[in-house]
Amino acid sequence: MTTRQQLIEEITREAQDTASLTGRDRLDPRVLQALRTVRREAFVPATAVRHAYVNAPLPIGCGQTISQPFVVALMTELLDLRSADHVLEVGTGSGYQTAVLAELADTVGSIEIIPELAARAAAVLAAEGYARVALRTGDGSLGWPERAPFDAIIVTAAARDVPPALVEQLRPGGRMVIPVGEAGGEQELRLLRKDAGGTVTSRSVLSVAFVPLTSGTREDRRRG
Ligand code: SAH
Repeated sequence: MTTRQQLIEEITREAQDTASLTGRDRLDPRVLQALRTVRREAFVPATAVRHAYVNAPLPIGCGQTISQPFVVALMTELLDLRSADHVLEVGTGSGYQTAVLAELADTVGSIEIIPELAARAAAVLAAEGYARVALRTGDGSLGWPERAPFDAIIVTAAARDVPPALVEQLRPGGRMVIPVGEAGGEQELRLLRKDAGGTVTSRSVLSVAFVPLTSGTREDRRRG
């Protein structure tokens, strides 16, 4: 069985191996501490608890997956979170990434489109003591206008294009990480920054494989 400490070591190694692409060879100790703190075994299905600290994505039901721990670490790192930050996550899934964000930021809102997963994540997050996370069921590509603007936005499903509503809801000085590309095809993790004047710049960080960001309509969901 892989232990939590072995996982942290593996994430640290993978960060070094990908540093020329990501621009980060050392992960922020606070990010690593958050990964040490959150009990991933609480967020994976009971049948996968043995594999909770393997550096791999795992199925969580409804055709979705809990992301690979290295990817969770890297995306969190790229957000450069400060303890006063107001964060939005699109794609709650298991709630694991939500918990990692909650360790590092002031407020976290997370949106999940599949009601069954949203309900399960809500129960696990409450049981693990993350009472201050705000959860919503719906289409996260529209953002959460009532809570905007956000210092950081993280999207954990692959979009064909960056949803304009999310760019709009990013505060000047804000950061967004989002996988962009085709479902099951080529995807790149992108890091967007909105400067103080509102100008958005974007760079490609790494090629990745995420489940697709679906839209709220039934037709799209069948395709997704
Ligand atoms: N962060 C999650 C990753 C889950 S996979 C974790 O660590 O477990 C991505 C999730 O995004 C899935 O649960 C999927 O249902 C959800 N999703 C897909 N399209 C969405 C949309 N438009 N709005 C909100 N959630 C969406």
